[in-house]
Amino acid sequence: MVRKLPLKQIRNIGIMAHIDAGKTTTTERILFYSGRIHRMGEIDNGTTQMDYLVLEREHGITITSASTQVRWKNCHINIIDTPGHVDFTIEVERSIRVLDGAIAIFCGVGGVEPQSETVWHQADYYHVPRIAFVNKMDRIGADFNAVIQMMKNRLHTRPLPIQIPIGAESNFQGVVDLIREKAIIWNDSIDPLGSIFEYIPIPEEMRGEVKEFRERMLETLAEVDDDFAVLYLEGKPVSEDQLVEAIRRATLKIQVTPTLCGSALKNKGIQPLLDAIVDFLPSPPDVPPIEGTNPETEEKEIRYPDDSAPFSALAFKILIDSQNRKMTFFRVYSGSAKAGQVVYNPSIESSEKLQKIAFMHADSQTIVDEVYTGDIVSAYGLRNTKTGDTLCDIDHPIILEPIQFPEPVISIAVEPVSKIDEEKLNIALQRIMEEDPSFLVKSDPETNQTLLYGMGELHLNIICERLRDDFKININVGKPMVAYRETITLSIGQEEKFEMKLGGNTYFANVSLHIEPQEAGRGFTFVNKLKGREIPDEYIPYVEKGVIDSMSCGVLVGFPLVDIKVHLIGGSAKVEQSSGEVFQACASRAFTNGARKCNPVLLEPIMSLEVVTPEEFLGDIIGGLNQRRAKVLEIRHRQNLQIIRATVPLSQMFGYSTDLRSNSQGRASFTMQFSHYSQVPPEVQASIIQ
Ligand code: GDP
Ligand code: MG
Repeated sequence: MVRKLPLKQIRNIGIMAHIDAGKTTTTERILFYSGRIHRMGEIDNGTTQMDYLVLEREHGITITSASTQVRWKNCHINIIDTPGHVDFTIEVERSIRVLDGAIAIFCGVGGVEPQSETVWHQADYYHVPRIAFVNKMDRIGADFNAVIQMMKNRLHTRPLPIQIPIGAESNFQGVVDLIREKAIIWNDSIDPLGSIFEYIPIPEEMRGEVKEFRERMLETLAEVDDDFAVLYLEGKPVSEDQLVEAIRRATLKIQVTPTLCGSALKNKGIQPLLDAIVDFLPSPPDVPPIEGTNPETEEKEIRYPDDSAPFSALAFKILIDSQNRKMTFFRVYSGSAKAGQVVYNPSIESSEKLQKIAFMHADSQTIVDEVYTGDIVSAYGLRNTKTGDTLCDIDHPIILEPIQFPEPVISIAVEPVSKIDEEKLNIALQRIMEEDPSFLVKSDPETNQTLLYGMGELHLNIICERLRDDFKININVGKPMVAYRETITLSIGQEEKFEMKLGGNTYFANVSLHIEPQEAGRGFTFVNKLKGREIPDEYIPYVEKGVIDSMSCGVLVGFPLVDIKVHLIGGSAKVEQSSGEVFQACASRAFTNGARKCNPVLLEPIMSLEVVTPEEFLGDIIGGLNQRRAKVLEIRHRQNLQIIRATVPLSQMFGYSTDLRSNSQGRASFTMQFSHYSQVPPEVQASIIQ
């Protein structure tokens, strides 16, 4: 097998931004100019290619990250479109995991908004080199320099403007390319779709500004790149190639963020953005090789991006297609594989067959016979592989670091209307869960209800809409409820003896546990402290299982218990009377009885909140937040807006959008995301428990 395109000519990139900054519009333009599509869609009338689910078209937002690829210059660019709403951060997180570089899109008016900050920091965490595109330069109030300033202040990055805008607002015409010292103009009367553009000399009145910006660009590069500093200090003219190479080096080391501008909607600035992807963003060999653990030796291992290395890939997304077939998206980190080949999934210790491999383009696909290092593709036939699993060569097993999933913090109850609906519901929920690892389904044995757990109200609303519209299921939906948890605050020793005669048999088990709270976020730890064989070894896992069973239903209200450490400190068994199951039941009872005495408390999800409001509504909004048990952390102003940062219990935030609208004549807005779990104040706890 030989790859068609050198690895150096592959770019795996994502487009990230605050909702409404223009990701989908920009992606659409990229598809159009690269010849991938022949008709441009518009968000506003719901005809874009990337937002292919009906719901996404209706909501005008991107929910599932669809992937697509384009050819530009000599490069193959894989693009993953990522959603902007926090309820879907899992989508952003998993895309960032498999990408090598990203474009951050900012609105020329709004600049760096809270959500872009969140995503930016996610990208910092994964060391993803980025370029920035300041979009919407045609809008009233668009200000390129102000956005650059915000990038410095908010993102603590070093923006490197490689363009400056020509004209502003409705008179925005194009950009000056500071590298090549030329103006690029898109003339609407020649080609309203923007395919045709011309290079012209820099307009006379901009020469001073261009000189200043170019000088600053060279200085910044000299500061971060030693090789370039030598050239620069010699004072000789720097060639275009030298400049591009220096910017590329600095971008790959995440020392600078090359910054461009344009207007996706008005079809200006997209072709130079594509050039910048090719010139500055990394190819697979430009990023550090992927690390993983050998499941047999438990040693760290590295896989270099090389087609002749053993195959390794990460499954990062699962979709069920319209014909009910499971599609697994994966990124190949090393080696290659053929359609029909068997690959190994070390997490489930089983082999799976790559039945049909395809490059995806929104909802259509191109079938291929083989995949190589660096490719992002989907395959059919992987029955048991889950999101975050590794696929590899069975003779060279490796587990790449899995994707972290956030815990769902909110739930709603759904009830099928008829028996037929009930059957359809179970199948549909299984499907949605397979696709979306941040979504969980549990049944409440007491009420016989089905509970859906998710990341926020919007997340669950969209799932209910899918159940009704896509799956045609009649359901009744309850009010959203907070996913509380329980923990303990005291330590205790607890012994339990289990002795029972049943049908002529005697059953016996005896267990002593020491139960103690542990630090928030530590989850559950089980330690066997037995010195001898008071309890036979084969029963120990049953003791642990008994404790875990009890933890799923807490002792206060029945929410799951978390952050507890349990030591097995004593016990005894009797020959022919003891068994694993008896020990499991006994440990379960020991734990529940013990935990009741450990002063159990309720934990609630706390959200971090940011409200943006015109000055005059500040007082009312702060008053409203105080009533909701919010802690205001910071109030700062930006132009004539006030920005409030606070933490607030999720339980207090239902219906907040309506309140905020009426408190601000519809002019304030907010974003909210999960921060941590914290103890419910005693007076509030009393009202929840009663
Ligand atoms: P996304 O949420 O980031 O995917 O943003 P969209 O691409 O869906 O765009 C959000 C809104 O902004 C839509 O109404 C677009 O028409 C509009 N929009 C996108 N790009 C521009 C632009 O360059 N200028 C102006 N004026 N509006 C734009
Ligand atoms: Mg979008």
